[in-house]
Amino acid sequence: MPKPEAKFCRNCGTPMQRRVPPLEDRTRAVCPNCGFIDYVNPINVVGTIPVWQGDQVLLCRRAIEPRHGYWTLPAGFLEAGESSSDGAIRETTEEAGAHIDLGALYSVLDVVHVEQVHLFWLATLRDIELDPGVETLECQLFHADGIPWDELAFRTVRTTLEFWVADRAAGIFPLHYGVIDPPPTLPE
Ligand SMILES: [Zn+2]
Repeated sequence: MPKPEAKFCRNCGTPMQRRVPPLEDRTRAVCPNCGFIDYVNPINVVGTIPVWQGDQVLLCRRAIEPRHGYWTLPAGFLEAGESSSDGAIRETTEEAGAHIDLGALYSVLDVVHVEQVHLFWLATLRDIELDPGVETLECQLFHADGIPWDELAFRTVRTTLEFWVADRAAGIFPLHYGVIDPPPTLPE
């Protein structure tokens, strides 16, 4: 869901007002006391496509909402103070306990209607000694022809896996960019 605007000022606690700030062109939540402006900007979700021996991909079954019980690539919200690639490695460690070598940035997907940008890196698994974290029910390797397409958690995961399966057939893995439209069925 899109992030709601702040009701109270983060600096001074005054109730915010909606107005167009000076020199700007859109309505934002503005503090009438101290002038603080609550800019609402897209959040980055970062993750990896961990590949084992070139032909199996590691998926994690979610132990948390949203999409509890569905399969996902390891991914999560980028933290302040870390690079997006470091965030992707961290999420892979937290959710799967996987040991990876990070490869190239592989998919950049705008999910405008939920105000997110999702970035996935190619990654190579060094081994298959996994240690799923608290957000993961189980981890499993899937061959390209065995990916559980009907049980995937998010459309950005599906789209990235579709890129991977197609590129695997061709043997080259270029960077992909896309925009995920509002969902007919699955959430992002
Ligand atoms: Zn204020």
